[in-house]
Amino acid sequence: MDSKQKVIIVGGGFAGIQLARRLDKHLFDVMLIDKINHHQFQPLFYQVATSQIEPSSISFPFRHILKNKSNVLIRMAELTQVHPEQNRISTTIGDFKYDYLVIAIGCKTNFFGNQKISRHSFTLKTTYDAIKIRNHILQTFENIASANGMDKEGLLNLVIVGGGATGVEMAGAFAEIKNNILPKDYPRIDFSKFNITLVEGTKDTLNNMSSKAQKASRTYLQKMGVELLTETFVTDYDGNTLVLSNEIGRAHV
Ligand SMILES: Cc1cc2nc3c(=O)[nH]c(=O)nc-3n(C[C@H](O)[C@H](O)[C@H](O)COP(=O)(O)OP(=O)(O)OC[C@H]3O[C@@H](n4cnc5c(N)ncnc54)[C@H](O)[C@@H]3O)c2cc1C
Repeated sequence: MDSKQKVIIVGGGFAGIQLARRLDKHLFDVMLIDKINHHQFQPLFYQVATSQIEPSSISFPFRHILKNKSNVLIRMAELTQVHPEQNRISTTIGDFKYDYLVIAIGCKTNFFGNQKISRHSFTLKTTYDAIKIRNHILQTFENIASANGMDKEGLLNLVIVGGGATGVEMAGAFAEIKNNILPKDYPRIDFSKFNITLVEGTKDTLNNMSSKAQKASRTYLQKMGVELLTETFVTDYDGNTLVLSNEIGRAHV
């Protein structure tokens, strides 16, 4: 009789993968369930979003990562319901029983209840999000190349909301491609008119890091030509006009 315990891990992010790797194969049979078939390396999403690396560079198939773990079964499915009283979960490919259930499905972008902002802005939580941003930015430059007047003015504003690590990295990476790459691809666009703005609600960028890191990020970003709006909240965005707690800007994000 098999005395091994059955562990279901839902989510193959950093947490799920580490656990699947470390559970003793003599004690546990593991099923790793994820709605996609690969691990996504989130820290480099910004490089995909800014066309600096290909999505394949940050995508690692679960079946490859865990190929030496004979006690791990991989299933691509989405968790839809947990029935704790029956030690059972429902997924898009059927139900599974477990002895232990670990839910490691990460988190979502918080729009603080503002549906309008959520509808009109881009998030950066998956590789697909990063590809969407990349495609949108590239399409926007094509649009700029053929637009004129007010339309062009709006297209020339890139706004990033949130001055944490991701926002700072994104702003820096966009400034890099604005300064070094895009002018070569679009020689007829005047990039001195292309504005990159980083909006942050608190007093500093990298607010949860050391004051040295906060100062350095501010100095570097400003040197690279990024406009920093700190102590400023985004209160609304309809896809065209961005409303800030202390001013209104016309923006194309
Ligand atoms: C842009 C960005 C940059 C970051 N940079 C850094 C950094 O430089 N350093 C650092 O330490 N941290 C960084 N982080 C944070 C770090 O990536 C997260 O803390 C970490 O990924 C959380 O791991 P997790 O396993 O909890 O969830 P995740 O890695 O988010 O994994 C969740 C998994 O669950 C799956 N899933 C979700 N819902 C379901 C469902 N219903 N059914 C089945 N599967 C589901 C998803 O497909 C995903 O594979 C960054 C995060 C982001 C978004």
